Amino acid sequence: MKQFLYEIVSNSKKDNSFDEARRYAKEHEDFQVLAHIYFGYAQLDKTMEMVSYLKSLFPGIKIAGSSSCGEIKDGHLTDRSIQISISFFEKTKIKTIIYDCRDRSEFDNGILMQEMVDSDPYAKAVEVIVATHSGLHAQKFFDALEKCNESVAVFGAAAAKYDDTSDTFVFNEDGISLFGIVCVLYSGEDFHISTAYALGWKELGHSMTVTKAESEKLYELDGEPAFNVYKKYLKIQNDSSFSRNALEFPLMYSEYGVDVARISLKCASDGTLYLGGELRNGDIVRLGYGDPVAILDSVYEAQDKIRLFQPQAIWIYSCMTRMSFWGDDIDCEISPFDKIARTSGFYTFGEYIRIGKKIYIHNATLISIGMRENAPAGIPVMALPRLTQKKMSGEISMVERLVSFIQATTGELERLNKNLAQKALTDDLTRIYNRRRMEEIMESFIKESRQSRDQIFFLLMDIDYFKQVNDTYGHDTGDVVLRKVAGVLKNYMNDDCVPGRWGGEEFMIVARNITKTMALDLAESIRRDICDEDYDPVPELTVSIGIAGMSPNDNILELYKRVDKALYHAKKSGRNCVFFSTD
Ligand code: GH3
Ligand code: MG
Ligand code: MG
Repeated sequence: MKQFLYEIVSNSKKDNSFDEARRYAKEHEDFQVLAHIYFGYAQLDKTMEMVSYLKSLFPGIKIAGSSSCGEIKDGHLTDRSIQISISFFEKTKIKTIIYDCRDRSEFDNGILMQEMVDSDPYAKAVEVIVATHSGLHAQKFFDALEKCNESVAVFGAAAAKYDDTSDTFVFNEDGISLFGIVCVLYSGEDFHISTAYALGWKELGHSMTVTKAESEKLYELDGEPAFNVYKKYLKIQNDSSFSRNALEFPLMYSEYGVDVARISLKCASDGTLYLGGELRNGDIVRLGYGDPVAILDSVYEAQDKIRLFQPQAIWIYSCMTRMSFWGDDIDCEISPFDKIARTSGFYTFGEYIRIGKKIYIHNATLISIGMRENAPAGIPVMALPRLTQKKMSGEISMVERLVSFIQATTGELERLNKNLAQKALTDDLTRIYNRRRMEEIMESFIKESRQSRDQIFFLLMDIDYFKQVNDTYGHDTGDVVLRKVAGVLKNYMNDDCVPGRWGGEEFMIVARNITKTMALDLAESIRRDICDEDYDPVPELTVSIGIAGMSPNDNILELYKRVDKALYHAKKSGRNCVFFSTD
């Protein structure tokens, strides 16, 4: 494998005649040639001119590329340039495909790619570059592609653009698309790849729940417009500078144990955020911030992995957030890669990497890819020097101290809130659910039963002649008895059966996923267990239980009335018994 890197600073192909690469091509006619082009100028016509020019110079060349918002050559950021890497593969077969997702859905295209991978016994890696468009969902493509053979690496990036997010594009040697996905399939017995990713962004502040999201559109967090988080905590306005200001503070969440960041590419006037990847309803997110020490540590780890792999070429797909975070120091995390092998790539709106079977869409990460043909030659380059924490400026350690302060106070508050919430939902005396919590659970059981069509039963239980217990043995003994009764009920608690204290010496048990006979058995069993318990010095204790069943379209108030009536009947029938409402 051999690589030639070219950078075109002005937007003209004539700046470069690719002499060295052409000479190499002449001497190695049977090698496969693959060009990666990252276009800092978002001009479709100029891009296709460049593609035609390369095709005329290198017959049979395969091409994959996209618009970008920062180009990487020899481990350095080049601003608004055209970055071209021309790679020669001796034994690897290269195939490029462009999918236009207007003709076929992202998922169906993903299936096509997955089938292509699985029909090639030598398939080793798939590179995917996706145009960034609010109607194009990379996740759906990956949902299908990730069914492919687990040993095949997947990596790639979302096309980016300087200044705004409109009209990013991807292309191969055959065409260009604003709504497309370009894939490169690398296959061959002697092709080897190592992928690594670095994040280093950390969670900050309290957790929020995604209450309304659809693919990459985040409408609401905790029931409020998503943008409010940026306004409330970071004083960021919803104006033309929004994404520049919000970029360094992505939303963080965890997906199957992997930390994932979501950057906001733009914000609509109604406060909807357009993210660089999906979030789903119910996801728990926090604001994230870039911790320089953690960022460098994770980059060093990635560099070490790639270094030991001994690649012949390295690609880097790094989030534009990192450019904004490091400012003039951006090269500190990409230049060390170039000491391992020639390094090129671009700054993106999203990074893709397969971990295990799953293909992750990341934001704020730096993805590094090492490739080589054959076994590694010799020994790896020496470990790269690392910046130590001491070398960082005083300002950064001040930030770290403030972050630590915020994390500690947020942690305290969250623990306190959790205790309060817990307290608000349990009964002080018996430590089982209180009436408020029971009502919530009953409502949720009923709601869920509308879909599952499960039968639901309410069991209302009242201790017989409890007043006499108090009168004879005192109120304190009465309290102990109530705790013991609750202790018996706790034994019946599971996902489908929940007991709670309804008030005084009355308890409610709600049960689902059972039949009428099972509900009667359950009540009988509870009645007997309570009867069998030792309440010393109280010689004996009995309970009466009323049961009412709910059918899916019934209403909760009616059910309360019915179960109350059933209990009344149980008392009337002499107590220490179970009565099933037949109303
Ligand atoms: P019945 O069989 O008709 O239910 O008779 P009862 O004596 O159990 O019913 P009644 O409603 O007359 O009395 C209930 C008693 O429960 C009265 C009240 O003092 C007592 N009680 C309610 N809450 C508590 C509590 O938290 N602790 C104690 N020790 N007693 C309580
Ligand atoms: Mg009572
Ligand atoms: Mg009673």
